[in-house]
Amino acid sequence: MKNITILGSTGSIGVSTLDVIEKNPDRFAVAALAAGRNVRLLAGQIEKFRPEIAAVQTLQDAESLREILGPKHTLPILYDEQGMEEVASYAGADMVVSAISGFAGLKPTLASIEAGKDIALANKETMVVAGSLVTRKAAEKIVKILPIDSEHSAIFQCLQGQKLSDIKRILLTASGGPFYALSRAELKKVTLRQALKHPRWKMGRKITIDSASMMNKGLEIMEARWLFDLEMDRIGVVVHPQSIVHSMIELRDGCILAQLGIADMRNPIAYALTWPDRLESDLPSLNLAKTGPLTFFEPDIRKFPCLGLAIEAGRSGGTAPVVLNAANEAAVAAFLENKIGFVDLPKVIEKMLRNHSIQDNPSLSEILEIDADTRREAQYLITKIKKG
Ligand code: NDP
Repeated sequence: MKNITILGSTGSIGVSTLDVIEKNPDRFAVAALAAGRNVRLLAGQIEKFRPEIAAVQTLQDAESLREILGPKHTLPILYDEQGMEEVASYAGADMVVSAISGFAGLKPTLASIEAGKDIALANKETMVVAGSLVTRKAAEKIVKILPIDSEHSAIFQCLQGQKLSDIKRILLTASGGPFYALSRAELKKVTLRQALKHPRWKMGRKITIDSASMMNKGLEIMEARWLFDLEMDRIGVVVHPQSIVHSMIELRDGCILAQLGIADMRNPIAYALTWPDRLESDLPSLNLAKTGPLTFFEPDIRKFPCLGLAIEAGRSGGTAPVVLNAANEAAVAAFLENKIGFVDLPKVIEKMLRNHSIQDNPSLSEILEIDADTRREAQYLITKIKKG
């Protein structure tokens, strides 16, 4: 029996993880659940999965959750950053699913690693902003980091049994999001509602916007750089709108290995939870005869500048990815509130990157400080864009 803690249990990945756990009661139990503010959904999850401890974002959320659960529940309910980290390091767990969205996932994930828990990693921002710190700490604590992101799971699966010295490069596939076929002029007119309609995957709002701008692929290149310890230049991207090939590796003899499957996150989640074993799946099989043609083409960085900015920040390293990520989170939040347009996203990020002097090997406190400063400055810029 594997006891699992889920950080971000009320999100898209969290709910899919609980579905995998529910279907395999002989293999998994829930040790702890942590969420943000959706206390209603969390209360239902607590009733069903009976965790031993839970955490929410604020004291007010903890009080609301306590009220919904009623006096019969004696479950410890923690809150705020400290509560989140306590749940992340809860002794009763064997593995932690890191599925909080954005930078907020960094400190709890580090707390889990510090406590020696294996990580099933969905929260790519953790690797983007602190890949060096996280991988060093994981090595020190002998903690495994297993990818949940479908592309990274695909690469991880292709790498099984391969010698690292035989890997020439990895190729991340990108669906291209809802706008890959639009012209630059058409991109200026896209709405929030259109950006939130991903053609293949049902995901949280932030990652859905990142997919539409192709920032998501840029973040994934950096995630892959740290997960697989490869230089940025050995990680390529190819647009594949059908999202059937989840990613590929190229070996030094020119052979390319790919992992294919339906677009359902429960597959990579299950693999991360059970590796090196595999679970029986009740999801539909991929029927290639009915899939139609599989197409591949180069991404257009001029049309999707966020991807180019992310590659540039990843190559620069140091604090550049921290600035890129903070500016992107601030810009995406503003776009989600209809405060700026879709084409303003790269403008905010580029300005923040150009204003920043990169520091090498930042400590955690420097990362936290630069993140906070960048968000504040980006916020100011966003107000000016809004007024303009
Ligand atoms: P969602 O927005 O659906 O869920 C985010 C989760 O994080 C929710 O449980 C939310 O709580 C919680 N949360 C947000 N902020 C905080 C905070 N400050 N403190 C505590 N909890 C918080 O996101 P997704 O599930 O889509 O994505 C989660 C992560 O996984 C992201 O990093 C994303 O990039 C990555 N990922 C997602 C994929 C997908 O298919 N969805 C695929 C690959 C990677 P609440 O809702 O209760 O406020």
